[in-house]
Amino acid sequence: MRTYVDSVIAAVEDKNPGETEFLQAVREVYPCLAAVVDARPEYRRAKILERMAEPERVIIFRVPWVDDAGEVHINRGFRVQMNSAIGPYKGGLRFHPTVYLGLLKFLAFEQVFKNALTTLPIGGAKGGSDFDPKHRSAGEVRRFCQSFMTELYRHIGQFTDVPAGDIGVGAREIGCLFGQYKRITNQFSGVLTGKGLEWGGSAIRPEATGYGAVYFAQEMLATRRDSLEGKTCLVSGSGNVAQFTVEKLIEVGARPVTLSDSGGFIHDPDGIDREKLDWVMELKNVRRGRIRQYAEQFRGSRFVPAAPGDSNPLWSIPADCAFPSATQNEINGKDAANLISSGVAVVTEGANMPTTPEGAELFIASGILYGPGKAANAGGVAVSCLEMAQDSEHLQWSREQVDERLRSIMSSIHSKVSAVAAEYGQPGNYVLGANIAGFLRVATAMLAEDVL
Ligand code: NDP
Repeated sequence: MRTYVDSVIAAVEDKNPGETEFLQAVREVYPCLAAVVDARPEYRRAKILERMAEPERVIIFRVPWVDDAGEVHINRGFRVQMNSAIGPYKGGLRFHPTVYLGLLKFLAFEQVFKNALTTLPIGGAKGGSDFDPKHRSAGEVRRFCQSFMTELYRHIGQFTDVPAGDIGVGAREIGCLFGQYKRITNQFSGVLTGKGLEWGGSAIRPEATGYGAVYFAQEMLATRRDSLEGKTCLVSGSGNVAQFTVEKLIEVGARPVTLSDSGGFIHDPDGIDREKLDWVMELKNVRRGRIRQYAEQFRGSRFVPAAPGDSNPLWSIPADCAFPSATQNEINGKDAANLISSGVAVVTEGANMPTTPEGAELFIASGILYGPGKAANAGGVAVSCLEMAQDSEHLQWSREQVDERLRSIMSSIHSKVSAVAAEYGQPGNYVLGANIAGFLRVATAMLAEDVL
């Protein structure tokens, strides 16, 4: 017999055809909530599940801009304002050619649960554009960002919706977007996070997602009286999250051995040390080069180009821990099986939904420590919220203060998620714990606010 949750999922599928990643996220989260909605009929009566799968507002707009050769381009801009029950909308902007409504709805949906787990007062949103900043000049990126903000500015604000960065949106893009917002509105406010330290940013914001993922892995390992010291770690990606994951892993005595980009991955069995990481940061953030150049620079390492196939050889390298930090669905069922059989005991998701449903099922069934993105990568949005707090106070906290709060937030997310998983009969299942804990906070607020 079809359960209530099954029928809600079927209705969401009917209503959102072709939105593959969004439907994947709903199919992952909602079955975890069956026991909660069965026990509390008020959620069903108020149609909380149905409401949470429908954005409060979606804004889609034209972004015209001119390239260096004088040619006009038209991109599509989006902001999905998913849920504001517990605070102003908050979530990143992604600039990548694969961006479309279904991708941003998945990210906004995940963001609602993630933001609720941080214990801070922030709702969920996501936005971006199908613009590809790769191989574009600084002038082209600036003109695109200015055009994007010329429409977006009317939909955001420090008490309404506070975007941040994501794939393709780093410090440079946040600077251009903030400059344009200020120019149009004549207001210097905390409307964006990820700002530079000299102009309203917070210490540790660039580092927060990567550091937070490592703190979450430490918390998981501590439950088995273990630590990251001496552990060999696979890291994918080589952008913001990957770089600061590697930085913190080096600091705690682990040995990161891989990095990747869309062209392939590098494997350095000697370990990526501080000096090599500084070189990667310069390569990626200043020279905007490709990760294959690492293998040309450092002897003993190798580059493996990306190739179509049923698995990614990065995830077959023997290691103790994996930190997928590039993009969604980068670990499929075969990759997950390879990771488990080559001895990986900890998977901590720096990226959003990097594991396919088949992969996630294998991780959960195997009993390894598996930290899903909405818990493990929540450090970024948590420190973004601390940036909002500092902007409101017109003050700036020290690096030590922010790092201490980040540690404590990651620790409380871990405790909460573990406790809820145990309460619902599946101790150690961080996926179940994160989905239920995030849901309960948002659903309670939605009922109390009774917005019908
Ligand atoms: P960046 O743009 O800084 O880096 C992304 C990295 O992933 C690059 O190395 C990029 O390679 C690679 N990548 C992106 N798309 C693909 C793809 N389709 N196939 C292969 N490689 C790809 O982004 P972030 O580091 O900020 O984000 C990484 C992940 O972390 C995303 O899933 C994001 O949603 C998530 N996240 C980020 C947060 C943040 O604070 N920044 C917070 C929470 C989650 P290339 O340059 O070749 O495209």
